[in-house]
Amino acid sequence: MSPANTGSGAGTTLSAPAAVRTAGGAVLLDGKMVAARVRAAVAARAAAFAARHGRRPGLAVVQVGHDAASGVYVRNKRKSSLEAGIESFAHDLPADTGEAQILALVHALNHDQRVDGILVQLPLPAGVDTHRVMDAVDPAKDVDGFHPVNTGLLAQKRPRLRPCTPFGVIRLAQEYGIALVGLRATVVGASNIVGRPMALELLLARATVTVCHTGTRDLRAEVERAELLVAAVGRAGFIPGDWIRPGAAVFDVGINRTASGKLVGDVEYARAAERAGWITPVPGGLGPMTIAMLLSNAVDAACLRMGTRA
Ligand code: NAP
Repeated sequence: MSPANTGSGAGTTLSAPAAVRTAGGAVLLDGKMVAARVRAAVAARAAAFAARHGRRPGLAVVQVGHDAASGVYVRNKRKSSLEAGIESFAHDLPADTGEAQILALVHALNHDQRVDGILVQLPLPAGVDTHRVMDAVDPAKDVDGFHPVNTGLLAQKRPRLRPCTPFGVIRLAQEYGIALVGLRATVVGASNIVGRPMALELLLARATVTVCHTGTRDLRAEVERAELLVAAVGRAGFIPGDWIRPGAAVFDVGINRTASGKLVGDVEYARAAERAGWITPVPGGLGPMTIAMLLSNAVDAACLRMGTRA
């Protein structure tokens, strides 16, 4: 596989972005640019929704405590929502908020007719049962796509609200015309929020999927045979560039801060970019795509609730 012999992707995508190559030679999968295009399309849909229903789609963002990294994400999500014409309802709770209070807020948001999507920023403080809180979100408002109902629907090949980062990987692949059917795809990482739903998304796209985790015996061999690699481990430069199969499509989900404060992914970027056919940068890859897919989910949720299309 190489960027020259791509097929067309599925779904309603925009015209293919111009191929910009990294210094190493791989085509740069420009998440920032594609995300801007997705957000513009979301804004048009949000405006159509508002014209039809007399109100904007509403997204409630709940943050408990003041985790520095989460704070940045939450501010970005709120700002991007407003720019896309989505009403943002901010709920910042102190770090010592108890589980019962968080659940009470989630229940209130479930019944608030102005709210189409609910996002509970993770991690929640120690002592709060994250599963109980996430399970309390109305699946119809679960814009993160983390609720077991939405994960189950994805597993059953009838996706509704899809987990944003994996959905962002699929969308980016489609925009660059990377044909996924039949592709040997390896996901490194098996978390509930990235690795597992990523495997389900790739399966839905009819790739042949391998999922690696700490129990995997020969990680190098699994990575070396991957025509498409998704790295979602959370360790800086964990996948050596020399492991990348020549021509592979590399999606680096990892966001790690080095001792010098630099943001890097899970893949050793410079060397990987000399071998890969396509590669996402960190930052500027799946980070912006994740936010764009969240906004897209918010408008989808609003339309699904109102029984309309926008
Ligand atoms: P996580 O919950 O910590 O999961 C890490 C996964 O990596 C686990 O499945 C774990 O295996 C696996 N793993 C750890 N060490 C390994 C090893 N030595 N060999 C093979 N597998 C190993 O992390 P996460 O929430 O999925 O996030 C992963 C990364 O993605 C983080 O850097 C996070 O910041 C980033 N992220 C980025 C975005 C975005 O918007 N771009 C969104 C979400 C997350 P086990 O299951 O066996 O423990």
